[in-house]
Amino acid sequence: MASRFFSTKKSHFLATIVVVSAAVIWWTLFSPITPSAAVAKQIGSIGPGRLAEHIKRLTEIGPRDGDNIRATRATIDYISERLRGLGYEPIEEAIQWPGFGGQGHVNLIAEKRGTKYPNQIVELGAHYDTVPMSPGADDNASGVAGVLEAARVLRDLPTERTIRFCFFGLEEKGLIGSRSHVAAFQKTPQREVLGLLNLEMIACRKAWPDSQDAPIRIPIIASLPTTGDFITVVGDFASGPLGNLFEACVNAYVPELNYFSANRIGGYFGDAARSDHSPYWEADLPGIMLTDTAEFRNHNYHQPSDTFESLDLEFAAQVSRATAATMAHWAVLSGSG
Ligand SMILES: [Zn+2]
Repeated sequence: MASRFFSTKKSHFLATIVVVSAAVIWWTLFSPITPSAAVAKQIGSIGPGRLAEHIKRLTEIGPRDGDNIRATRATIDYISERLRGLGYEPIEEAIQWPGFGGQGHVNLIAEKRGTKYPNQIVELGAHYDTVPMSPGADDNASGVAGVLEAARVLRDLPTERTIRFCFFGLEEKGLIGSRSHVAAFQKTPQREVLGLLNLEMIACRKAWPDSQDAPIRIPIIASLPTTGDFITVVGDFASGPLGNLFEACVNAYVPELNYFSANRIGGYFGDAARSDHSPYWEADLPGIMLTDTAEFRNHNYHQPSDTFESLDLEFAAQVSRATAATMAHWAVLSGSG
């Protein structure tokens, strides 16, 4: 009798453990957020119009590759001018990397200071350079426009942590700007960078069958849909919570946006490391890339045909809204307890 009584208690105990573990795993993997009316209001003003203006102006400059000093300067000046117009004080951070020091290459950086933990910094970035010969509308004027719009709507939303907006140079030369940036902030440990959300091509959507290629398709684990109408969330294992936060913000604020989660597993695929979040992974910091998957969907990738006319700006606006919401929650809204 005793043993039976004992085993009933034991099975209750085990059931409790299973339920609690399942809840913890569910919370860890999907971690829902409490939506904020203030965030919803701010991001609601992000639409195709302002994104279009930024992308047009940037592409009119022409190819903005690192060897093109005139176009690079015009690009930096444009972004700086827009940031100043929003009330930011952008700084030019010299790019220092073997083979690339002292030539005037810069990352452009602007900060919105945290109210409670100003030395805890969450970063949102996009590269502003292109390959030669391409006007780089999707790659990556779209990402730059998304960061500028996030900077606009986050300006008046007090957050406990500092939000830093990063416009990286020389990405197409081998992630040089972001490598230099990570090396630079690692030398100032009194200011702690918590990771990067990286916009890398966010304006190509193809809502018809067989419009999406994939580097590899592994059933269940990593199989991109065959219709290219989603944004891909790419993170390595350590970036999981940040990827979850973005996905929770899509669900809460922009449910019309389709996403495919390559969160946590992205680190196992070589193609997933081809942008400015990669130096963060190498430094054991969270980094999430949001991408339309580049050449696996957009056949204008790195071509003269990567033009303004080829873009889907409503898609870019949806991604930008979810991005701005993610930054607001990651930086912790002031007064939200
Ligand atoms: Zn790019």
